[in-house]
Amino acid sequence: MPWWKCSNCGYVFEADKPPERCPNCGEKCTFYDVTCYTPECGFTGYDPKLVARKPNEESRF
Ligand SMILES: [Zn+2]
Repeated sequence: MPWWKCSNCGYVFEADKPPERCPNCGEKCTFYDVTCYTPECGFTGYDPKLVARKPNEESRF
């Protein structure tokens, strides 16, 4: 199942698809797909590098 990160509060959670509202902060925010697709993160479910990424750095990727 994909992992998502809330762009507002940084909450990371697992879900089929991003919800309309963040389960943590309750805001309607953008959710980033932080699912791990490589062995680098140790298959913990989400990629720590993507989780650490700040929204304003997105354009670098
Ligand atoms: Zn949130």
